[in-house]
Amino acid sequence: MSSTLWQQCCERLAAELPEQQFTTWIRPLPPGVVSATPEGNPVVSVRVPNRFKLDWIRNQYGSRIEALLTELAGEPVRLELSLAPREPAPRAQATATAGATTGANGIVQLPLQGLLQPGPPPLPETASPARTRLNPALTFDNLVPGRANQMARTAALHVAGAPGQMYNPLFIYGGVGLGKTHLIHSVGNALLADNPNARVLYLHAEQFISDVVKNYQRKTFDELKAKYHSLDLLLIDDVQFFAGKERTQEEFFNAFEALLAKRAHIIMTSDTYPKGLADIDERLTSRFDSGLTVAIEPPELEMRVAILMKKSDAEGTEMPEDVAFFVAKNVRANVRELEGALRKILAYSRFSHKEINIQLARDALKDLLSIQNRQISVENIQKTVADFYKIKVADMYSKKRPASIAKPRQIAMYLAKELTQKSLPEIGELFGGRDHTTVLHAVRKIGGERTKDTELNQQLHVLEQTLKG
Ligand code: ADP
Ligand code: MG
Repeated sequence: MSSTLWQQCCERLAAELPEQQFTTWIRPLPPGVVSATPEGNPVVSVRVPNRFKLDWIRNQYGSRIEALLTELAGEPVRLELSLAPREPAPRAQATATAGATTGANGIVQLPLQGLLQPGPPPLPETASPARTRLNPALTFDNLVPGRANQMARTAALHVAGAPGQMYNPLFIYGGVGLGKTHLIHSVGNALLADNPNARVLYLHAEQFISDVVKNYQRKTFDELKAKYHSLDLLLIDDVQFFAGKERTQEEFFNAFEALLAKRAHIIMTSDTYPKGLADIDERLTSRFDSGLTVAIEPPELEMRVAILMKKSDAEGTEMPEDVAFFVAKNVRANVRELEGALRKILAYSRFSHKEINIQLARDALKDLLSIQNRQISVENIQKTVADFYKIKVADMYSKKRPASIAKPRQIAMYLAKELTQKSLPEIGELFGGRDHTTVLHAVRKIGGERTKDTELNQQLHVLEQTLKG
């Protein structure tokens, strides 16, 4: 009876959640155990193997699960999520050997059935765990290694194994969707697996900014200091967002110095290298550069193939190697796009009940491929923009500065960054050997102006549509 209710609930969740979410979060859970409150209302208790999962499941799925249980039972059901004891009981271990796996965090995860026959009621969770803001799904285990991330991954592994020692601060930069966020979460998760008491905090730079603003309004900087300065590992994502935020930079600098002084580790990510960061105090950027700075590059073909195969495997679907090659050859930009392509193929195969082969992949990715095939080159952008603004293509490389030329040139640089995979220095090179900071300035300037200037925005739309074909 109890297992049926839970089972039905799982079936509903399986149908409504993306498969990867369901396999990651719900499927590994032991069956919920039904008991009753003193008033006789049913309570379903589920034990979760570790506190990250507990937090995550409670926040992301708690209310939905409760609603489903209530609907299925036809009366109000309370969901009680609690931590499973750290060491599985011998009986549970014995029943679980066959399918037990050890997660990246070193915690044994038990298979679907067999565990938690009605036993002692779960202990209510007492103190709420410190918020690390880590996503436990992002680990070294499921980060595919390759030439593109070799340096960054090696350095990150090193820090996870010996924080506060070498490579401090570690600065990781690269384009969007290349795995920077994944990598720094992996460090946090690995460190916590080794040492559950480590004080780790992941923050997107924007969260840090909003913390600073809040504390500024409430005049509670001491609290802010206490919070950041007591950490063992601080992970700050996308520090380019600190641009122009002076107060934030100052607070960050303080936290930064305090943490380094007590040999806590700091890892940062950014879309560009420290010296390329615009509107960030040089005092700060030179400190960013004082440990180790490493790039993550776009993955090469073999790595893209490996990523596709690993990810489809994780979805429980085998992707033939020739299909993986086909997709990897056509989807080149970054890992996020690869994931998107994979999702399309899996969904297409499921809906059409067809097996995955190249033809199916071609059909599933029809829209994507027609865009990809029309590769946009920097030369093409320069020519199109020059035509549009009626200037000479040669002015794209010239040193001329009148606004009638400089502006279109900046627009072309902006579009080159937006529509190609070229790095800032590469783009600078293609615009007559200009410095990468010139390109960065153009990218930021045009990007900022288009949000305020509707005419410019309209022109950019036309150019983008023309270039994309
Ligand atoms: P970034 O922070 O650089 O923009 P993310 O870390 O968000 O990129 O990565 C984008 C997506 O690609 C995520 O879903 C991430 O898990 C995945 N990903 C990136 N690199 C890899 C890799 N080497 N192996 C497996 N998945 C990866
Ligand atoms: Mg990121």
